[in-house]
Amino acid sequence: MLDYLVVGLGLAGISFCESLEENNRSFVVIDNDSQRASVVAGGLYNPVILKRFSLAWKADKQLIEAIPFYRSLENKLQVSLDFKLPVLRIFASIEEQNLWFEAADKPALQPFLSTDIIPNRNPHIEAPFGYGQVLSTGRVDTKALVAHYKSFLAQKNAYYQELFGFEELEKHKGFFQYKDLRFKKIVFTSGFGLKENPFFNYLPLNGTKGELLTIEAAELKENRVIKSSVFIIPLEKNLYRVGATYKWKDKKNKPTPEAKEELLAKLDSFLSCSYVVKDQQAGIRPTVADRRPLLGAHPEYEHMYVLNGFGSRGVLIAPYAAKRLFNYIEKDIPLDKDMDIARYRKKYVKF
Ligand SMILES: Cc1cc2nc3c(=O)[nH]c(=O)nc-3n(C[C@H](O)[C@H](O)[C@H](O)COP(=O)(O)OP(=O)(O)OC[C@H]3O[C@@H](n4cnc5c(N)ncnc54)[C@H](O)[C@@H]3O)c2cc1C
Repeated sequence: MLDYLVVGLGLAGISFCESLEENNRSFVVIDNDSQRASVVAGGLYNPVILKRFSLAWKADKQLIEAIPFYRSLENKLQVSLDFKLPVLRIFASIEEQNLWFEAADKPALQPFLSTDIIPNRNPHIEAPFGYGQVLSTGRVDTKALVAHYKSFLAQKNAYYQELFGFEELEKHKGFFQYKDLRFKKIVFTSGFGLKENPFFNYLPLNGTKGELLTIEAAELKENRVIKSSVFIIPLEKNLYRVGATYKWKDKKNKPTPEAKEELLAKLDSFLSCSYVVKDQQAGIRPTVADRRPLLGAHPEYEHMYVLNGFGSRGVLIAPYAAKRLFNYIEKDIPLDKDMDIARYRKKYVKF
C-alpha cells in the first residue's frame, strides 16, 4: 500500500512530489504528455506584473520559498535549473517612466523595482526611453527540470508513462485501487488535463493557450531578459525565446501560423537585427476565472485532492502551493481561502 498516487508531472506534480519526498511518504506518479505547459514555458520568475507595475499575488512570499526549492532540486538532480537574469522593461514614454517611479515608491514594490533608468546601449533594440529593471528575477529551465525529474522517478520505479483512466479508479474504504496499485490518497496535478477529470471538472479552469518562438540572432548579443510587447529571453549560443501569445478559444497544444505572425510582428517593432526562427511551441496555461490557484479536497470523496490553477506563474506559485496542500492534508493546517477550492463548492453537483 502506497501513501499517494500523483497524476501529472509538470511543475505542480514535481512540487508535490518534493513535499512527499521531504516527508518520507511513498508514492508513484502517472503522467503522459497530453499537456505541455511546464515543458514549453518561458520559465521566467518575476514578482512584478509589468503591464500594471504591481506586485503579483503573494509573489514576495512565493519567491522566498521558490529560490531554495529550485536550488535543492539542482543539487538533487545534478543539473543547472535556475539562471539568474535581470528583467528589463522597455519604457514606451516619459509618462511610463514616471509611473514606474511612483510604483517603486510603494513599500510592497520597493524591493523589486530599481529606481535607476537604464539607458539602452544595444544598437539592435529600439528603446529611446531606456529600461526599468526588475530585481530578484531569473529563468528556471522547466523543460530540463521535467526531463530530469522523470528520470529520477523512473530510476526509483515511481514513474508510469500512461494516460490515467478515471473509470479504472476504484474507491474503497480507506484506500484506492488503480489497476495493480493500491494507495491511501490521490492528488491530481494534471494542469489543463483537469477538464477531462470527472471528479474536478466542475472547477472553473479556463485554460489560456500560449505560444513561443525560439530564434537564433547572432548579432543581438543580449544576456538580459527584455520585455516590450513580448519577452526576449536569452538561452544559450545566440538562441532566444520570444513570447508569448494569449488565446482563449483554441485549446490544442498545436503551434499555429497566426501566433507566429503575431509574435514576429511584435518582435520586429523593437528588434532590428536579422534572426532565424528555429522552433515554435504551444501549451495551455491552467488559468482560473478568479486568477487564483485551485487547491484542496474533493467535496465528496475522502482522500482525493487537486493542485492546479497556476496560470502564467507556475514557476513561483507551484512550490508555495504544493507545500500548503501537503500541510493541509497531513497536518490539518487550513488552506488560504483564496486558494481553497471550497470557494467553488456551490458549483459541485453530486454525480
Ligand atoms: C507558452 C507558455 C509560457 C509560459 N511561461 C511561463 C513563465 O515564463 N513563467 C511561469 O512561471 N509560468 C509560465 N507559464 C505557465 C506555466 O507553464 C504553468 O503555470 C505551469 O507549467 C502549470 O503546471 P502544471 O503542472 O499545473 O500543468 P502542466 O505543466 O500542464 O502539467 C500537467 C501534467 O499532467 C499530465 N496529465 C494531464 N492529464 C493526464 C492524464 N489523464 N493522465 C496522465 N497524465 C496527465 C500532462 O500531460 C502534464 O504532463 C507558461 C505557459 C505557457 C503555455
